[in-house]
Amino acid sequence: MKVPILDLNAQYKDIIDEIKHEINKVMDKHQYILGPQVKELEEKIAEFCNCDFAIGCASGSDALVLALMAVGVNEGDEVITTPFTFFATAGSVHRVGAKPVFVDINPKTFNIDPEKIEKAITPKTKAIMPVHLFGQAADMDAIMAIAQKHNLKVIEDNAQGIGALYKGKTAGTIGDIGTLSFFPSKNLGAMGDGGMCLTNDPELAQKLMKLRVHGEVQKYYHKWVGFNSRLDSIQAAVLIVKLAHLQNWSTARQKNAKYYFEQLSGLKQIVLPHIEKDCVSIFNQFSILAEKRDELMQYLLDNGIGCAIYYPKPLHLQECFSYLNYKEGDFPVSENTANKVISIPIFSELTKEQQDYIISTIKKFYSC
Ligand SMILES: *Cc1c(COP(=O)(O)O)cnc(C)c1O
Repeated sequence: MKVPILDLNAQYKDIIDEIKHEINKVMDKHQYILGPQVKELEEKIAEFCNCDFAIGCASGSDALVLALMAVGVNEGDEVITTPFTFFATAGSVHRVGAKPVFVDINPKTFNIDPEKIEKAITPKTKAIMPVHLFGQAADMDAIMAIAQKHNLKVIEDNAQGIGALYKGKTAGTIGDIGTLSFFPSKNLGAMGDGGMCLTNDPELAQKLMKLRVHGEVQKYYHKWVGFNSRLDSIQAAVLIVKLAHLQNWSTARQKNAKYYFEQLSGLKQIVLPHIEKDCVSIFNQFSILAEKRDELMQYLLDNGIGCAIYYPKPLHLQECFSYLNYKEGDFPVSENTANKVISIPIFSELTKEQQDYIISTIKKFYSC
C-alpha cells in the first residue's frame, strides 16, 4: 500500500468542477488582482476566524513582513520568536531590518515557552511573534500578559493554525495581527501562493491594505513604503470554494488524530503530540517524537508511507543567522525536538485502511 504525506488528488476530486467554474468566472471578467473574489474571501475568512478584518496578500511569508511593518517594527528593533518553526517566521524579522531573538520551546507543545520570554526582553524589544505550530495555539494568555506588561506588540504566525482554538478564541485573532498562509499543504491551501493578515484593529487593517500596494493611499500618492503583495483573484476563487469544506476537513484530521492516539499510545518508543486541555488543534501536522527517528523514517518510506521532518535544523543554527552568534546547546529543547521529530500522514481523506497500515508499520519497526 502507498500512503502519501498529503493526498491533494483525494482532496480535489469532489470539488474540482466547482473550482473550474469559479476560475472561469474570474477569466470572464479579467479582474485578476485584488478582484471581487479577494474581497469576498476576506469577508468569509474574517467571519470564519471571528475577527473584524482580513487582508489578503501574496503569501504567508509576506503576511508576516506586512504585519511587522504595520505594527512599526523597524531597523534595530528586536523581535522575540521561536527557533523551532518554518524559516519564514524569523526570515520576516530579518527582512524588515530587525533582529530575531530566539527563546526555547515547551517540550510538550513545541510552541514558544512563555516562561523564558521575559529574560530575552531588552530595551530594543518591539514585538513577540509566537507560532501556532502544527495546528495548536501557543500559550497566548501568558504571552499577552508579558506583552502588556512590557508594552510589546504581538504578531501570531498562524500559517499552520487556521481555525484552531485557544480557550474558545480563534488562533490568529488574539494578538495585534495574526497571519495565515494558503500554501498548498496548509489546511486551507490555494493552487499556488497566497496569504492573509487578521486583525481587530481598524487602523492596522487600513495600514495593511495600503502596505500591500506600495503604501499607496490614493492613486500615485504614497504615505508609506510598502511593497507589492497582492492576492490573485484566481487563488481567492479557489479558496472560497475550499473554505466551505474547511471545518469538515479539520474535523476529519481531528478524528484521524484520535485514532492514532488510541492505537499508538501504548508504544513506549514514541511520544504522541500533546494537546493542551484548553486548545483545539487543527492538526496541520501529526508530529511525534521517535526513538531511532532516522531509521523509522527510512522504514516508513521503504514501505510506501510518506513522512517528513518538520524541522530538522532549528533556526538559531542556520547558516544565514550565524551573525546572531548563537551556538549549539543554546536551545536544547528545540535541538532535541529537531533530532527526534517526525510527521506522519494526517490529511483529511486518509482512510482507516491507510491509517491501520501506518500504525502496523510503525509497530512492526519497533518490534524487530
Ligand atoms: C508555511 C509557513 C509560513 C510561510 O507561508 P508561505 O505562504 O509559504 O510564505 C510561515 N510560517 C509558518 C510557521 C509556516 O508554516
